Amino acid sequence: MTIETKTISDLRRSLKGRVIGPQDAGFDSARTVFYGGIDRRPGAIVRVADPSDVSHAITWARETGVEIAIRSGGHSFAGHSISEGGLVIDLKEMRALEIDPERRTAWAETGLTAGEYTNAAGSHDLATAFGDTGSVGIGGLTLGGGVGYLVRKHGLTIDSLVAAEVVTADGTQVHTDAETHPDLFWAIRGGGGNFGVVTKFQFRLHPVPAFLGGILILPAAPEILAAFIAEAEAAPDELSTIANVMPAPPMPMIPEELHGRLVIFAMMAYAGEIEAGERVLAPFRRLAPPVADLVRPIRYPELYLPEEEGYHPTAAARTLFVDTIDRGVAQDILARLAASDAPVRVAQIRVLGGAMARVPFEATAFAHRTSRIMVNLAAFYAGEEDRAVREAWVSDFETALRQGDLGAYVNFLGDEGPLRVRQAYPGPTWDRLTAIKRQYDPTNLFHVNQNIPPNGA
Ligand SMILES: Cc1cc2nc3c(=O)[nH]c(=O)nc-3n(C[C@H](O)[C@H](O)[C@H](O)COP(=O)(O)OP(=O)(O)OC[C@H]3O[C@@H](n4cnc5c(N)ncnc54)[C@H](O)[C@@H]3O)c2cc1C
Repeated sequence: MTIETKTISDLRRSLKGRVIGPQDAGFDSARTVFYGGIDRRPGAIVRVADPSDVSHAITWARETGVEIAIRSGGHSFAGHSISEGGLVIDLKEMRALEIDPERRTAWAETGLTAGEYTNAAGSHDLATAFGDTGSVGIGGLTLGGGVGYLVRKHGLTIDSLVAAEVVTADGTQVHTDAETHPDLFWAIRGGGGNFGVVTKFQFRLHPVPAFLGGILILPAAPEILAAFIAEAEAAPDELSTIANVMPAPPMPMIPEELHGRLVIFAMMAYAGEIEAGERVLAPFRRLAPPVADLVRPIRYPELYLPEEEGYHPTAAARTLFVDTIDRGVAQDILARLAASDAPVRVAQIRVLGGAMARVPFEATAFAHRTSRIMVNLAAFYAGEEDRAVREAWVSDFETALRQGDLGAYVNFLGDEGPLRVRQAYPGPTWDRLTAIKRQYDPTNLFHVNQNIPPNGA
């Protein structure tokens, strides 16, 4: 049922936050999500002010039969934070952050972005591990797992999650941690927004007094790429890397003749003492004369690069895990990137392991602890006309790269169907998630997401 057939004035009366309907100023900007090409018109967007607003909104939607979408940072690849004709519970105005530097914990409302949180924590030389982009919401990122610049040193974002406040499908506000509703706490660490609206997370903070990081750009050749990955795997946990193999962007630090030519555009993140970090980075710098080397002692939050306001790319994308990138695989990656004429195309390679891999796979709903390398493939397209060719390219690329690991990281999935969601939650993880879903959301009220249906089918 859509909101057109109902009045939203009773909603307005019962909430402290703003209700934005299709006739209201700001509706179009409020319904815009990060990815372009997602043009849905919800019946109303509720900028909730507190957990009781969330509870009212859920109850209203449940009673009226209106579909709910939940939005934190709006960066879902599948557009899961907006629904056509439905009610969007938008956490944007809930951005309170209480940092306790003594106890090294923080309570963070889920409308915060990774960048906002990281900047605030950085002023105490503390950090929680989020992803590689400041504008991503801590809501969606944390609920799916969270793989970022500190993944090898401090694990996934969920590995620093201490507790959460959740409003469940019956409108109840629930506190959950390892002792209280432990099943719910397990499920929200990887299982996404299937179990309720999380209004607050409590995170552990880690000291980051010294940090060496930044952009290292190397020429793209099979032996250099394979050696880069081997070095990243052999490096101590302090170093996490994200290697984007892509055409060189027209940045001033890159010689003009290389613009548009394939390079390894790597983000290097060493969370430790500078001198030791320099020693760890030396072998990477020796792989080839760098095209650009901006790696230097920085404050950790500086690793988040500035972002363009109003940037809404349209992209075909795939995610997968691989076991190895040897010279042959590296050659294939470069050949496939060279064969595409998409102006922006990338194979993003993240070597995993370290702290992330030391957590037992059954400890949380993120089941890919032993996966070695994550690869994200993307080709941007300008209009619908070249969408099919970009989709075919990423799809063939994914098939060619597949080795034995069929898993998928839920936060990088697009709208790829139930089989891929199952691959995000293999075997016993799926069985436990569906049992917990039956308990907390038996009618699948929260289904605008990478869905875990209560019946498991
Ligand atoms: C440019 C870019 C860079 C990225 N980099 C990384 C990275 O380095 N590491 C990584 O792990 N991921 C990364 N991601 C993926 C990202 O983690 C997911 O897209 C994530 O779901 C986005 O969270 P969000 O809150 O911004 O998105 P939203 O679209 O608001 O939400 C995503 C999903 O989570 C649900 N949800 C959000 N908040 C809540 C809540 N409070 N309660 C219940 N459900 C909620 C939504 O309903 C939706 O299903 C990146 C994405 C983009 C676009």
